[in-house]
Amino acid sequence: MAANPLQHLMPTCSGARAAAAGAAFGAAAADDPRSGTLRVNEIFHSIQGESTWAGEPCVFVRLTGCPLRCTYCDTEYAFREGGTTTVGDLVDRVLAFGCPLVELTGGEPLAQKRAFDLMRLLSDAGRTVLVETSGAVDIAPCDPRVIRILDLKTPGSGECEQNRWTNLADLRPADEVKFVVTDRADYEWARTVIAERGLATMVREGRLRAILMSPAWAQAAGQEVSGSPGLEPRTLAEWILADRLAVRMQVQVHKVIWDPGTRGV
Ligand code: SF4
Repeated sequence: MAANPLQHLMPTCSGARAAAAGAAFGAAAADDPRSGTLRVNEIFHSIQGESTWAGEPCVFVRLTGCPLRCTYCDTEYAFREGGTTTVGDLVDRVLAFGCPLVELTGGEPLAQKRAFDLMRLLSDAGRTVLVETSGAVDIAPCDPRVIRILDLKTPGSGECEQNRWTNLADLRPADEVKFVVTDRADYEWARTVIAERGLATMVREGRLRAILMSPAWAQAAGQEVSGSPGLEPRTLAEWILADRLAVRMQVQVHKVIWDPGTRGV
């Protein structure tokens, strides 16, 4: 991983594991972007559970693979499971839902380079395209119309060292930054990042849509990657209120609607 010239500004990450961030394993280039291929875990129509788009019907395209292993990951099944599909077929299947909002998620959707073609073609077709990304991969190649939900990995994720800080320079007014908080140390780390990176100022000035802060959801035994006990939403809410922190707290709406272990929702 290249040295980060802005590292001195950042609080340190403890307990982070080395992982191969930014690995691209998409199919070989083709002249027609529709003929490129992607490994897809699942496609489904559901209620958007996170971000400022929460509550809206949305088609989700979950791509296979992720170079990270967050302690609280709830989509471990997407690390390997999935089939190969052409970009053109995926576009057609997404459009068939007749839903104006689409999200690429994972796994890490940007780890497959053909994901950028998929997002562009869906934007061309008039869809609002969101991408939920770990923050470990370069977001710059995303089509200008794509809205990025950029996760900044906290120390408690175990993957803090994978944060690609240069992504912050590429954020656009419609983009959102997210912190998943596992404990008080994560909260204080996120609070420091927000201050040192001027994220709240960016929101105030219209250069960033929102700063999202979520409590890590407790994983059922056997479903977690390496174990995260989760954080009570009320605890996080009280910390935010006490600090007058300018963030938007969120819980995962789909886990309230459906059983948290349910797939395809
Ligand atoms: S939470 Fe996201 S980034 Fe972390 S391991 Fe799971 S899919 Fe990858």
